[in-house]
Amino acid sequence: MITITLVQGDITRQSVDAIVNAANSSLLGGGGVDGAIHRRGGPAILEECRALRASHYGKGLPTGQAVATTAGELDARWVIHTVGPVFAASEDRSDLLASCYREALRVADELGASSVAFPAVSTGVYRWPMRDAARIAVETVRSTDTAVEEVRFVLFDEQAYALFAAQLR
Ligand code: ADP
Repeated sequence: MITITLVQGDITRQSVDAIVNAANSSLLGGGGVDGAIHRRGGPAILEECRALRASHYGKGLPTGQAVATTAGELDARWVIHTVGPVFAASEDRSDLLASCYREALRVADELGASSVAFPAVSTGVYRWPMRDAARIAVETVRSTDTAVEEVRFVLFDEQAYALFAAQLR
């Protein structure tokens, strides 16, 4: 049985097997969670991202997919990078956002990770409304068949935390 936990705080401060990064498809870093992970994790993560780009993702990591690297100096074994969809009112991209959670858990299973911390993917620069993002995140994790024992959602602010908590009730 999977246990879902909630934390309000900084995902780069979590001690877990794998920390999920809300990356962009370039895998070369960005703002938000991505910037924070590379800053605190150090250069080893970016180096591996560059190598992955060269070997597998010349056109970038497609939206909804996930790939793992070392976690550098973070208190984790791996960072799992996933690319969330940009929110669009004109088109339903929910499946792509759900895919980020499913694929990250699939990669976690491949790695043998038993605890995984997720940020609220796509809710920053990619503008996904937090309430809807929380619903998709919780529903997808609950309905995914995985050996991961703990999924920890790490929410940066109080409002995001409250919206995730409401989904869990
Ligand atoms: P995206 O490009 O997928 O929207 P962002 O990194 O811009 O990704 O934002 C995703 C969410 O992560 C936002 O809700 C943002 O407030 C939050 N966030 C930013 N920094 C951190 C952090 N260090 N730890 C946890 N959450 C964070």
